[in-house]
Amino acid sequence: MAEESSQSPNSSFNLFAITQTQLDAAAEVLELDPALHAVLREPLREMHVTLPVRMDDGSIKVFKGYRVQYNDARGATKGGLRFHPNETIDTIRALAAWMTWKCAVVDIPLGGGKGGIACNTKELSSSELERLSRAYIRQMGRILGPEMDVPAPDMYTNPQIMTWMMDEYSVMRGHNEFGVITGKPLALGGSRLRNDATARGGMYCIREAAKALGIETQGATMAIQGYGNAGQYAASLGQKILGATIVAISDSQGGVYDPDGINPYWALEHKRKNGSVKDFTATGATPISNQELLELDVDILAPSALENVITARNAGNIKARILAELANGPTTPQADDILYNHGVYTIPDFLCNAGGVVVSYFEMVQNAYDYYWDDQVVDERLDTRITQAFHAVHKRAQELNVNNRIAAYCVAVERVAEAVRLRGWA
Ligand code: NAD
Repeated sequence: MAEESSQSPNSSFNLFAITQTQLDAAAEVLELDPALHAVLREPLREMHVTLPVRMDDGSIKVFKGYRVQYNDARGATKGGLRFHPNETIDTIRALAAWMTWKCAVVDIPLGGGKGGIACNTKELSSSELERLSRAYIRQMGRILGPEMDVPAPDMYTNPQIMTWMMDEYSVMRGHNEFGVITGKPLALGGSRLRNDATARGGMYCIREAAKALGIETQGATMAIQGYGNAGQYAASLGQKILGATIVAISDSQGGVYDPDGINPYWALEHKRKNGSVKDFTATGATPISNQELLELDVDILAPSALENVITARNAGNIKARILAELANGPTTPQADDILYNHGVYTIPDFLCNAGGVVVSYFEMVQNAYDYYWDDQVVDERLDTRITQAFHAVHKRAQELNVNNRIAAYCVAVERVAEAVRLRGWA
Protein backbone atom coordinates (compact mmCIF):
# COMPACT_ATOMS: atom_id res chain seq x y z
CA MET A 1 0.00 0.00 0.00
CA ALA A 2 1.26 3.47 -0.80
CA GLU A 3 2.42 5.73 2.00
CA GLU A 4 0.82 8.96 0.93
CA SER A 5 -2.10 10.31 2.83
CA SER A 6 -4.17 13.34 2.03
CA GLN A 7 -7.45 15.04 2.66
CA SER A 8 -10.94 14.77 1.27
CA PRO A 9 -11.71 17.26 -1.53
CA ASN A 10 -14.40 18.98 0.49
CA SER A 11 -12.78 19.76 3.82
CA SER A 12 -10.12 19.14 6.38
CA PHE A 13 -11.76 15.80 7.29
CA ASN A 14 -9.85 12.73 6.22
CA LEU A 15 -12.59 10.59 4.71
CA PHE A 16 -10.67 7.33 5.03
CA ALA A 17 -10.06 7.93 8.74
CA ILE A 18 -13.84 8.45 9.03
CA THR A 19 -14.60 5.07 7.41
CA GLN A 20 -12.14 3.41 9.81
CA THR A 21 -13.81 5.10 12.80
CA GLN A 22 -17.20 3.88 11.59
CA LEU A 23 -15.87 0.34 11.11
CA ASP A 24 -14.28 0.40 14.58
CA ALA A 25 -17.64 1.31 16.14
CA ALA A 26 -19.35 -1.61 14.39
CA ALA A 27 -16.48 -3.99 15.25
CA GLU A 28 -16.96 -3.12 18.90
CA VAL A 29 -20.70 -3.79 18.76
CA LEU A 30 -20.09 -7.08 16.90
CA GLU A 31 -17.15 -8.03 19.15
CA LEU A 32 -15.33 -8.76 15.91
CA ASP A 33 -12.25 -10.97 16.00
CA PRO A 34 -9.22 -8.59 16.05
CA ALA A 35 -7.52 -10.29 13.08
CA LEU A 36 -10.67 -9.99 10.94
CA HIS A 37 -11.03 -6.39 12.06
CA ALA A 38 -7.42 -5.67 11.02
CA VAL A 39 -7.97 -7.16 7.53
CA LEU A 40 -11.17 -5.15 7.03
CA ARG A 41 -9.56 -1.88 8.15
CA GLU A 42 -7.22 -1.54 5.13
CA PRO A 43 -7.49 -1.86 1.34
CA LEU A 44 -6.13 -5.16 -0.02
CA ARG A 45 -4.61 -3.55 -3.13
CA GLU A 46 -4.15 -0.19 -4.80
CA MET A 47 -2.53 1.11 -7.94
CA HIS A 48 -1.31 4.65 -8.62
CA VAL A 49 -0.58 5.71 -12.19
CA THR A 50 0.85 8.70 -14.01
CA LEU A 51 -1.00 9.60 -17.20
CA PRO A 52 0.72 11.79 -19.81
CA VAL A 53 -1.97 13.10 -22.18
CA ARG A 54 -1.60 15.18 -25.33
CA MET A 55 -3.73 18.35 -25.14
CA ASP A 56 -5.43 19.86 -28.19
CA ASP A 57 -2.72 22.55 -28.40
CA GLY A 58 -0.03 19.87 -28.80
CA SER A 59 1.39 20.14 -25.27
CA ILE A 60 1.58 17.19 -22.84
CA LYS A 61 -0.19 17.37 -19.50
CA VAL A 62 0.45 14.81 -16.77
CA PHE A 63 -2.44 13.54 -14.61
CA LYS A 64 -2.52 11.25 -11.54
CA GLY A 65 -4.87 8.24 -11.55
CA TYR A 66 -5.81 5.78 -8.82
CA ARG A 67 -7.63 2.49 -8.33
CA VAL A 68 -8.24 0.91 -4.95
CA GLN A 69 -9.46 -2.70 -4.64
CA TYR A 70 -10.56 -2.64 -1.03
CA ASN A 71 -11.82 -6.16 -0.48
CA ASP A 72 -12.77 -8.94 -2.92
CA ALA A 73 -13.61 -11.74 -0.46
CA ARG A 74 -17.25 -11.88 -1.72
CA GLY A 75 -16.53 -11.36 -5.43
CA ALA A 76 -14.89 -9.07 -8.00
CA THR A 77 -14.39 -5.53 -6.77
CA LYS A 78 -16.89 -2.98 -8.04
CA GLY A 79 -16.99 0.78 -7.83
CA GLY A 80 -17.11 4.06 -9.65
CA LEU A 81 -14.52 6.35 -11.19
CA ARG A 82 -14.42 10.01 -10.18
CA PHE A 83 -12.83 12.79 -12.18
CA HIS A 84 -12.39 15.54 -9.57
CA PRO A 85 -9.72 18.27 -9.43
CA ASN A 86 -9.02 17.66 -5.71
CA GLU A 87 -9.19 13.86 -5.90
CA THR A 88 -7.02 12.20 -3.26
CA ILE A 89 -6.01 8.63 -2.51
CA ASP A 90 -7.68 8.76 0.90
CA THR A 91 -11.01 9.78 -0.62
CA ILE A 92 -10.71 6.86 -3.05
CA ARG A 93 -9.81 4.47 -0.20
CA ALA A 94 -12.82 5.63 1.77
CA LEU A 95 -15.15 5.25 -1.20
CA ALA A 96 -13.73 1.78 -1.95
CA ALA A 97 -14.37 0.77 1.66
CA TRP A 98 -17.96 2.02 1.42
CA MET A 99 -18.42 0.06 -1.83
CA THR A 100 -17.39 -3.08 0.07
CA TRP A 101 -20.03 -2.45 2.75
CA LYS A 102 -22.57 -1.35 0.14
CA CYS A 103 -22.35 -4.54 -1.95
CA ALA A 104 -22.54 -6.58 1.25
CA VAL A 105 -25.51 -4.73 2.74
CA VAL A 106 -27.60 -5.33 -0.42
CA ASP A 107 -26.18 -8.86 -0.57
CA ILE A 108 -24.78 -8.88 -4.10
CA PRO A 109 -21.77 -11.15 -4.79
CA LEU A 110 -19.22 -8.36 -5.27
CA GLY A 111 -16.46 -6.65 -3.32
CA GLY A 112 -15.63 -2.95 -3.17
CA GLY A 113 -13.34 -0.80 -5.28
CA LYS A 114 -13.06 2.80 -6.42
CA GLY A 115 -10.88 4.86 -8.71
CA GLY A 116 -10.37 8.26 -10.11
CA ILE A 117 -8.27 10.83 -11.86
CA ALA A 118 -7.34 14.21 -10.40
CA CYS A 119 -8.61 16.48 -13.20
CA ASN A 120 -11.10 19.23 -13.93
CA THR A 121 -13.44 17.97 -16.66
CA LYS A 122 -14.76 21.52 -17.17
CA GLU A 123 -11.30 22.52 -18.46
CA LEU A 124 -10.95 19.60 -20.91
CA SER A 125 -12.28 19.37 -24.46
CA SER A 126 -14.18 16.22 -25.43
CA SER A 127 -11.18 14.82 -27.30
CA GLU A 128 -8.83 15.55 -24.37
CA LEU A 129 -11.28 13.79 -22.05
CA GLU A 130 -11.36 10.80 -24.42
CA ARG A 131 -7.54 10.58 -24.54
CA LEU A 132 -7.38 10.84 -20.73
CA SER A 133 -10.02 8.12 -20.27
CA ARG A 134 -8.25 5.78 -22.69
CA ALA A 135 -4.86 6.49 -21.06
CA TYR A 136 -6.32 5.48 -17.68
CA ILE A 137 -7.46 2.13 -19.10
CA ARG A 138 -4.14 1.46 -20.86
CA GLN A 139 -2.48 1.72 -17.43
CA MET A 140 -5.20 0.17 -15.26
CA GLY A 141 -6.48 -2.43 -17.74
CA ARG A 142 -4.13 -5.06 -16.31
CA ILE A 143 -6.01 -5.08 -12.99
CA LEU A 144 -9.54 -4.70 -14.43
CA GLY A 145 -11.98 -7.22 -15.93
CA PRO A 146 -15.42 -8.75 -15.26
CA GLU A 147 -13.92 -11.33 -12.93
CA MET A 148 -11.48 -8.95 -11.23
CA ASP A 149 -12.63 -5.36 -10.91
CA VAL A 150 -15.44 -3.51 -12.68
CA PRO A 151 -15.59 0.34 -12.70
CA ALA A 152 -18.70 2.51 -13.21
CA PRO A 153 -19.55 6.22 -13.43
CA ASP A 154 -19.37 8.52 -10.41
CA MET A 155 -18.79 12.24 -9.98
CA TYR A 156 -18.02 13.96 -13.29
CA THR A 157 -17.90 10.71 -15.28
CA ASN A 158 -20.70 9.51 -17.55
CA PRO A 159 -21.82 6.80 -20.05
CA GLN A 160 -19.68 8.28 -22.84
CA ILE A 161 -16.55 8.01 -20.68
CA MET A 162 -17.54 4.44 -19.75
CA THR A 163 -17.88 3.64 -23.47
CA TRP A 164 -14.41 4.98 -24.37
CA MET A 165 -12.98 2.94 -21.50
CA MET A 166 -14.84 -0.25 -22.48
CA ASP A 167 -13.69 0.26 -26.09
CA GLU A 168 -10.03 0.74 -25.07
CA TYR A 169 -10.16 -2.35 -22.84
CA SER A 170 -11.76 -4.39 -25.67
CA VAL A 171 -8.99 -3.28 -28.06
CA MET A 172 -6.38 -4.39 -25.47
CA ARG A 173 -8.07 -7.81 -25.12
CA GLY A 174 -8.77 -8.30 -28.83
CA HIS A 175 -12.50 -8.91 -28.36
CA ASN A 176 -15.55 -7.05 -27.05
CA GLU A 177 -15.61 -7.07 -23.26
CA PHE A 178 -18.80 -5.20 -22.39
CA GLY A 179 -18.78 -6.55 -18.81
CA VAL A 180 -15.53 -4.72 -17.89
CA ILE A 181 -17.44 -1.58 -17.01
CA THR A 182 -21.01 -0.64 -16.13
CA GLY A 183 -23.08 2.48 -16.66
CA LYS A 184 -22.70 2.07 -20.44
CA PRO A 185 -25.30 3.37 -22.91
CA LEU A 186 -28.13 0.96 -23.77
CA ALA A 187 -26.77 0.52 -27.31
CA LEU A 188 -23.57 -1.02 -25.90
CA GLY A 189 -24.68 -3.40 -23.18
CA GLY A 190 -26.06 -0.91 -20.66
CA SER A 191 -28.93 -1.89 -18.40
CA ARG A 192 -32.35 -0.33 -18.47
CA LEU A 193 -32.93 2.03 -15.51
CA ARG A 194 -29.18 2.35 -14.74
CA ASN A 195 -29.33 6.14 -15.21
CA ASP A 196 -31.75 6.76 -12.38
CA ALA A 197 -30.97 3.63 -10.29
CA THR A 198 -29.09 5.41 -7.50
CA ALA A 199 -31.91 7.83 -6.81
CA ARG A 200 -34.57 5.14 -7.40
CA GLY A 201 -33.01 2.92 -4.72
CA GLY A 202 -32.90 5.94 -2.41
CA MET A 203 -36.62 6.60 -3.00
CA TYR A 204 -37.46 2.99 -2.07
CA CYS A 205 -35.46 3.45 1.17
CA ILE A 206 -37.31 6.71 1.94
CA ARG A 207 -40.65 5.01 1.21
CA GLU A 208 -39.84 2.25 3.72
CA ALA A 209 -38.44 4.68 6.30
CA ALA A 210 -41.57 6.84 6.03
CA LYS A 211 -43.75 3.77 6.60
CA ALA A 212 -41.70 2.82 9.66
CA LEU A 213 -41.97 6.36 11.06
CA GLY A 214 -45.64 6.85 10.16
CA ILE A 215 -44.89 9.72 7.75
CA GLU A 216 -47.14 10.23 4.71
CA THR A 217 -44.86 10.80 1.69
CA GLN A 218 -47.65 12.23 -0.48
CA GLY A 219 -47.10 15.99 -0.20
CA ALA A 220 -44.06 15.57 2.10
CA THR A 221 -41.49 18.33 1.61
CA MET A 222 -38.09 17.43 0.21
CA ALA A 223 -34.86 19.43 -0.19
CA ILE A 224 -32.05 18.16 -2.39
CA GLN A 225 -28.42 19.31 -2.42
CA GLY A 226 -26.69 18.60 -5.75
CA TYR A 227 -28.37 18.38 -9.15
CA GLY A 228 -26.23 15.83 -10.99
CA ASN A 229 -27.11 12.20 -11.58
CA ALA A 230 -28.17 11.46 -8.00
CA GLY A 231 -29.83 14.81 -7.24
CA GLN A 232 -31.78 15.43 -10.45
CA TYR A 233 -33.36 11.95 -10.41
CA ALA A 234 -34.03 12.26 -6.67
CA ALA A 235 -36.12 15.32 -7.58
CA SER A 236 -38.07 13.73 -10.42
CA LEU A 237 -38.50 10.33 -8.72
CA GLY A 238 -39.19 11.94 -5.34
CA GLN A 239 -42.17 13.53 -7.01
CA LYS A 240 -43.14 10.44 -9.04
CA ILE A 241 -42.54 7.57 -6.57
CA LEU A 242 -43.13 9.32 -3.23
CA GLY A 243 -45.51 12.11 -4.27
CA ALA A 244 -43.17 14.53 -2.47
CA THR A 245 -43.08 18.29 -3.06
CA ILE A 246 -39.56 19.35 -4.03
CA VAL A 247 -39.13 22.63 -2.16
CA ALA A 248 -35.38 23.24 -2.63
CA ILE A 249 -32.60 22.19 -5.00
CA SER A 250 -29.01 23.30 -5.48
CA ASP A 251 -25.72 22.66 -7.23
CA SER A 252 -22.15 23.84 -6.76
CA GLN A 253 -23.10 27.44 -7.63
CA GLY A 254 -26.09 27.78 -5.27
CA GLY A 255 -29.75 26.86 -5.04
CA VAL A 256 -33.39 27.90 -5.10
CA TYR A 257 -36.29 27.48 -2.65
CA ASP A 258 -40.04 27.46 -3.27
CA PRO A 259 -42.42 26.18 -0.57
CA ASP A 260 -45.06 25.63 -3.29
CA GLY A 261 -42.81 23.19 -5.13
CA ILE A 262 -40.20 23.28 -7.88
CA ASN A 263 -40.78 21.51 -11.19
CA PRO A 264 -37.74 19.15 -11.45
CA TYR A 265 -37.91 18.91 -15.24
CA TRP A 266 -38.05 22.66 -15.83
CA ALA A 267 -35.20 23.09 -13.33
CA LEU A 268 -33.12 20.56 -15.26
CA GLU A 269 -33.88 22.32 -18.52
CA HIS A 270 -32.74 25.58 -16.91
CA LYS A 271 -29.52 23.94 -15.69
CA ARG A 272 -28.83 22.54 -19.16
CA LYS A 273 -29.23 25.97 -20.73
CA ASN A 274 -27.55 28.08 -18.02
CA GLY A 275 -25.12 25.69 -16.31
CA SER A 276 -26.76 25.90 -12.88
CA VAL A 277 -30.13 25.77 -11.08
CA LYS A 278 -29.04 28.81 -9.06
CA ASP A 279 -31.06 31.35 -11.08
CA PHE A 280 -34.13 29.20 -11.69
CA THR A 281 -36.44 31.82 -10.20
CA ALA A 282 -38.84 32.39 -13.11
CA THR A 283 -41.62 30.30 -11.50
CA GLY A 284 -41.43 32.09 -8.14
CA ALA A 285 -38.53 30.34 -6.36
CA THR A 286 -36.06 32.44 -4.38
CA PRO A 287 -32.26 31.96 -4.16
CA ILE A 288 -30.90 29.92 -1.25
CA SER A 289 -27.35 28.96 -0.27
CA ASN A 290 -26.22 25.35 0.07
CA GLN A 291 -25.85 25.84 3.80
CA GLU A 292 -29.38 27.24 4.19
CA LEU A 293 -30.81 24.39 2.14
CA LEU A 294 -29.42 21.81 4.54
CA GLU A 295 -31.06 23.53 7.50
CA LEU A 296 -34.57 23.89 6.00
CA ASP A 297 -37.56 22.62 7.95
CA VAL A 298 -38.50 19.77 5.60
CA ASP A 299 -39.66 16.17 5.93
CA ILE A 300 -36.88 14.77 3.74
CA LEU A 301 -33.37 16.11 3.17
CA ALA A 302 -31.30 14.42 0.47
CA PRO A 303 -27.64 15.54 0.33
CA SER A 304 -26.70 14.39 -3.17
CA ALA A 305 -23.40 16.13 -3.91
CA LEU A 306 -20.26 16.06 -1.81
CA GLU A 307 -18.97 14.50 1.41
CA ASN A 308 -18.66 16.15 4.85
CA VAL A 309 -21.43 18.72 4.41
CA ILE A 310 -23.13 17.85 7.72
CA THR A 311 -20.65 18.27 10.55
CA ALA A 312 -20.73 18.97 14.29
CA ARG A 313 -21.11 22.64 13.33
CA ASN A 314 -24.47 22.41 11.57
CA ALA A 315 -25.90 19.01 12.64
CA GLY A 316 -27.83 20.61 15.50
CA ASN A 317 -29.60 22.85 12.97
CA ILE A 318 -30.84 20.01 10.74
CA LYS A 319 -34.63 19.95 10.98
CA ALA A 320 -35.45 17.21 8.46
CA ARG A 321 -37.21 14.11 9.80
CA ILE A 322 -35.52 11.79 7.30
CA LEU A 323 -31.94 12.34 6.14
CA ALA A 324 -31.52 10.34 2.94
CA GLU A 325 -27.82 10.25 2.12
CA LEU A 326 -27.62 9.87 -1.63
CA ALA A 327 -24.10 11.32 -1.60
CA ASN A 328 -21.27 9.29 -0.16
CA GLY A 329 -20.07 10.45 3.24
CA PRO A 330 -22.14 13.64 3.68
CA THR A 331 -22.20 13.24 7.49
CA THR A 332 -19.22 13.11 9.87
CA PRO A 333 -19.25 10.69 12.86
CA GLN A 334 -19.69 13.56 15.37
CA ALA A 335 -22.63 14.87 13.37
CA ASP A 336 -24.11 11.35 13.34
CA ASP A 337 -24.34 11.32 17.12
CA ILE A 338 -25.96 14.77 17.20
CA LEU A 339 -28.54 13.78 14.56
CA TYR A 340 -29.33 10.51 16.35
CA ASN A 341 -29.85 12.34 19.64
CA HIS A 342 -32.11 14.89 17.89
CA GLY A 343 -34.26 12.10 16.43
CA VAL A 344 -33.31 12.62 12.77
CA TYR A 345 -33.79 9.30 10.96
CA THR A 346 -30.67 8.80 8.84
CA ILE A 347 -30.66 6.41 5.91
CA PRO A 348 -26.89 5.86 5.67
CA ASP A 349 -25.13 6.45 2.38
CA PHE A 350 -24.07 2.95 1.51
CA LEU A 351 -27.66 1.75 1.90
CA CYS A 352 -29.42 4.85 0.53
CA ASN A 353 -27.36 5.10 -2.66
CA ALA A 354 -26.93 1.35 -3.27
CA GLY A 355 -29.46 1.32 -6.14
CA GLY A 356 -26.71 2.27 -8.59
CA VAL A 357 -24.49 -0.68 -7.79
CA VAL A 358 -27.44 -3.07 -7.68
CA VAL A 359 -28.38 -2.15 -11.25
CA SER A 360 -24.69 -2.18 -12.21
CA TYR A 361 -24.61 -5.76 -10.93
CA PHE A 362 -27.72 -6.48 -13.04
CA GLU A 363 -25.84 -4.96 -16.00
CA MET A 364 -22.89 -7.33 -15.40
CA VAL A 365 -25.27 -10.31 -15.24
CA GLN A 366 -27.05 -9.23 -18.46
CA ASN A 367 -23.67 -8.73 -20.21
CA ALA A 368 -22.48 -12.19 -19.13
CA TYR A 369 -25.62 -13.84 -20.51
CA ASP A 370 -26.15 -11.47 -23.44
CA TYR A 371 -29.79 -11.44 -22.41
CA TYR A 372 -31.42 -8.12 -21.53
CA TRP A 373 -34.28 -7.36 -19.14
CA ASP A 374 -37.08 -4.81 -19.53
CA ASP A 375 -37.79 -1.85 -17.20
CA GLN A 376 -40.31 -3.75 -15.13
CA VAL A 377 -37.97 -6.67 -14.38
CA VAL A 378 -35.09 -4.36 -13.42
CA ASP A 379 -37.35 -2.20 -11.26
CA GLU A 380 -38.96 -5.11 -9.41
CA ARG A 381 -35.61 -6.79 -8.72
CA LEU A 382 -34.09 -3.50 -7.54
CA ASP A 383 -37.05 -2.77 -5.27
CA THR A 384 -36.89 -6.25 -3.72
CA ARG A 385 -33.15 -6.03 -2.92
CA ILE A 386 -33.28 -2.49 -1.55
CA THR A 387 -36.39 -3.13 0.54
CA GLN A 388 -34.86 -6.29 2.04
CA ALA A 389 -31.62 -4.44 2.81
CA PHE A 390 -33.48 -1.49 4.35
CA HIS A 391 -35.43 -3.76 6.71
CA ALA A 392 -32.35 -5.78 7.68
CA VAL A 393 -30.69 -2.51 8.76
CA HIS A 394 -33.79 -0.99 10.40
CA LYS A 395 -34.38 -4.20 12.39
CA ARG A 396 -30.74 -4.42 13.50
CA ALA A 397 -30.80 -0.77 14.65
CA GLN A 398 -33.87 -1.47 16.80
CA GLU A 399 -32.41 -4.69 18.23
CA LEU A 400 -29.03 -3.18 19.09
CA ASN A 401 -30.34 0.28 19.99
CA VAL A 402 -27.73 1.91 17.72
CA ASN A 403 -27.99 4.42 14.89
CA ASN A 404 -28.75 3.18 11.39
CA ARG A 405 -25.19 3.67 10.19
CA ILE A 406 -23.72 1.36 12.81
CA ALA A 407 -26.56 -1.09 12.14
CA ALA A 408 -25.79 -1.03 8.39
CA TYR A 409 -22.12 -1.63 9.17
CA CYS A 410 -23.05 -4.56 11.41
CA VAL A 411 -25.11 -6.22 8.66
CA ALA A 412 -22.42 -5.63 6.00
CA VAL A 413 -19.30 -6.29 8.07
CA GLU A 414 -20.68 -9.60 9.31
CA ARG A 415 -21.15 -10.78 5.72
CA VAL A 416 -17.68 -9.72 4.54
CA ALA A 417 -16.04 -11.02 7.73
CA GLU A 418 -17.69 -14.40 7.22
CA ALA A 419 -16.31 -14.61 3.66
CA VAL A 420 -12.82 -13.58 4.84
CA ARG A 421 -12.93 -16.13 7.66
CA LEU A 422 -14.23 -18.97 5.45
CA ARG A 423 -11.48 -18.27 2.90
CA GLY A 424 -8.91 -18.55 5.66
CA TRP A 425 -7.54 -15.01 5.30
CA ALA A 426 -7.89 -14.34 9.03
P1 NAD B 1 -22.58 14.39 -10.63
O1 NAD B 1 -21.24 14.78 -11.06
O2 NAD B 1 -23.54 13.90 -11.64
O3 NAD B 1 -23.28 15.61 -9.86
C1 NAD B 1 -22.68 16.25 -8.77
C2 NAD B 1 -23.57 17.43 -8.39
O4 NAD B 1 -23.08 18.00 -7.18
C3 NAD B 1 -23.57 18.56 -9.45
O5 NAD B 1 -24.87 19.07 -9.58
C4 NAD B 1 -22.66 19.61 -8.82
O6 NAD B 1 -22.97 20.91 -9.24
C5 NAD B 1 -23.01 19.41 -7.35
N1 NAD B 1 -22.01 19.96 -6.44
C6 NAD B 1 -20.64 19.91 -6.55
N2 NAD B 1 -20.09 20.60 -5.53
C7 NAD B 1 -21.10 21.07 -4.78
C8 NAD B 1 -21.18 21.85 -3.60
N3 NAD B 1 -20.07 22.27 -3.00
N4 NAD B 1 -22.40 22.14 -3.10
C9 NAD B 1 -23.53 21.71 -3.72
N5 NAD B 1 -23.53 20.98 -4.84
C10 NAD B 1 -22.34 20.67 -5.35
O7 NAD B 1 -22.37 13.32 -9.45
P2 NAD B 1 -23.37 12.19 -8.96
O8 NAD B 1 -23.09 10.96 -9.71
O9 NAD B 1 -24.75 12.76 -8.88
O10 NAD B 1 -22.78 11.95 -7.48
C11 NAD B 1 -23.19 12.76 -6.39
C12 NAD B 1 -22.94 11.99 -5.11
O11 NAD B 1 -23.66 10.77 -5.16
C13 NAD B 1 -21.47 11.62 -4.86
O12 NAD B 1 -21.21 11.62 -3.47
C14 NAD B 1 -21.39 10.21 -5.40
O13 NAD B 1 -20.32 9.48 -4.82
C15 NAD B 1 -22.75 9.70 -4.96
N6 NAD B 1 -23.18 8.51 -5.68
C16 NAD B 1 -23.47 8.56 -7.03
C17 NAD B 1 -23.87 7.40 -7.68
C18 NAD B 1 -24.25 7.38 -9.14
O14 NAD B 1 -24.69 6.32 -9.62
N7 NAD B 1 -24.14 8.49 -9.86
C19 NAD B 1 -23.96 6.20 -6.98
C20 NAD B 1 -23.68 6.20 -5.61
C21 NAD B 1 -23.29 7.36 -4.98
